[in-house]
Amino acid sequence: MIFNTHSHINDKMSQIDEIYQDCLNNGVSDIGVCGYDLDSSKRAIKLAHINKMFHAMCGLQPQEIAKYNGDFSDFEELFQDDKCIAIGEIGLDYYYGKDDKEKQLDVFEKQVQIATKYKKTIVIHCRDAYEDTFNILNKYHQQLDGIVLHCYSGSVEMMQRFLNIGCYISLSGVVTFKNAKVAKEVAIACPINKLLVETDDPFLTPVPFRGQENKPSYVRYVIAEIASLKNMSNDEIANITYNNAKRVFHL
Ligand SMILES: [Zn+2]
Repeated sequence: MIFNTHSHINDKMSQIDEIYQDCLNNGVSDIGVCGYDLDSSKRAIKLAHINKMFHAMCGLQPQEIAKYNGDFSDFEELFQDDKCIAIGEIGLDYYYGKDDKEKQLDVFEKQVQIATKYKKTIVIHCRDAYEDTFNILNKYHQQLDGIVLHCYSGSVEMMQRFLNIGCYISLSGVVTFKNAKVAKEVAIACPINKLLVETDDPFLTPVPFRGQENKPSYVRYVIAEIASLKNMSNDEIANITYNNAKRVFHL
C-alpha cells in the first residue's frame, strides 16, 4: 500500500484508466488528487467519486489568484463534499509572485480561516515564503485539523518550527536529485511519523526518469530514496507514510 499524497491527474482526465492501472501495478493504492483552482478542484471531486483510489483536495493556489473574485462560496460547496479530504493546495509563492504578496496573503489566510470552519486538513504550497507561511499557520494551527507542507523545500531548521506546530512534511521527486542536498538532509532529519510522499506530477519527475513527464506511480522512487537515506526498507517507508497519510487526512 502506497499513499501518494499529491498528484495532478485531474489534468489528465482522458488517461485516467491507464493511470489507475499503472498505479495498481506499482502498489500505489491511494492518490491525493489536488486542485489549484475551481475547475481543477471540481475535476478532483469528480475523480474521487468515480474511484476510491482517488481523494480530492480543493483550493485556490497562489499562482492562480488572478481568478479570485472575492467569493469562496463555490469552493465551500466542494469543501463540504465527503470526498474532499483536504483544502489545498493553498499558500504563498514569492518565487513566481513577488509582486502580489498582499493579495496572496489575503487569499491564503481567508482559505485557512474557511478550513477551520469545515474541520479539514490543509495542504500548503510554499515557495520562497516560509517565514510568512509559518506566521499564518502559527496563528491558526490550534483550530486546524491537520497541516501538510506539500513538496517541502525549506531548511531542516525551518522544518523543526513547522513540526513544533504539528505539520506533516511531504517530499517529492526532488529528494532523488543528486544536487538536492537540503532535501536529503530534511528526509534524514524528519521524524518518520511526520513524513509523507508524493509526486506532484506532471512536475518534478524523480531520478531515473528526470526530464521526462512525471506520473503518480513514480512515487516508488521517492520512497526508495528516502528508505536509503534513512537506512530503512522500501516497505517500511511505504507502510509508515501510508499510515501517516491516513492519520493526517482522517481516513
Ligand atoms: Zn501541486
